[in-house]
Amino acid sequence: MSEAKAAAPTRPKAKKGPRPKHVPQRTCVTCRETGAKRGLIRLVRTPEGAVEVDPTGKRNGRGAYLCNRVRCWERGVNDRILGRALRLEGLTQENREALLKYADERVPDDEDEDE
Ligand SMILES: [Zn+2]
Repeated sequence: MSEAKAAAPTRPKAKKGPRPKHVPQRTCVTCRETGAKRGLIRLVRTPEGAVEVDPTGKRNGRGAYLCNRVRCWERGVNDRILGRALRLEGLTQENREALLKYADERVPDDEDEDE
């Protein structure tokens, strides 16, 4: 007493449209904002397992980007977002301080630019 179901497989067709070109997108690991609008700063993992700022963006190694908001640097460093992005167990206190110092000196605090 079984009924054979004649369910016709209906697959939704993929919509055709202009296919976006693959552009390597840089994403802030903290706020996930992408694009070149905010200057994203590259950080690179050194063979020693530390994180260094890579202003040229050309250094070898696993990299991650942070945008130019001090907030994102603080969260990225303190909440281990950055470490995770770079597959690190964690950052040393020294390393954290160096990165936050960089952010403090070089990264404008949010949109407050008095110049
Ligand atoms: Zn950000």
